[in-house]
Amino acid sequence: MAVAETGRRVPLNPDMIEMPASAGGLPRLVGSCCPACGARFAARRAICLQCAHRGIERCTLSPTGTVWTFTVVRQQPPGSILQAPYAIAQVQLDDGPIVAAPLVDTAIDAVRVGLPVEMTLCDAGRDADGNTLVAHAFRARREEEQ
Ligand SMILES: [Zn+2]
Repeated sequence: MAVAETGRRVPLNPDMIEMPASAGGLPRLVGSCCPACGARFAARRAICLQCAHRGIERCTLSPTGTVWTFTVVRQQPPGSILQAPYAIAQVQLDDGPIVAAPLVDTAIDAVRVGLPVEMTLCDAGRDADGNTLVAHAFRARREEEQ
């Protein structure tokens, strides 16, 4: 039986990505926020790493940030969904947390520490219903699209 093409894009990990609310909006990573001290974390947490408060809340993180550091992958890893060469960056989000992600739609020569970036999504396969699975990535910020 052929898999139907639905055209929907769904997160590979729905607990990690909040899809854009509108066509021009940016996706966001889901993180954790401490109601006691205001600390924000890229991963889901139960206890605050800064003040030990229990009762960390779910929040969405800033979709923009800057490249904190990066490396360039020049050899195609087996099974990779990305085409080498590409950069893997540690991105410091504008609200603090640092997350690892590939940089896409960005020329390798343009990647530098401090480069302003924004979150985007890259295709990561299909599910059994024919939906396109997407994973988080970042690209050089496109000021004209904001
Ligand atoms: Zn805290």
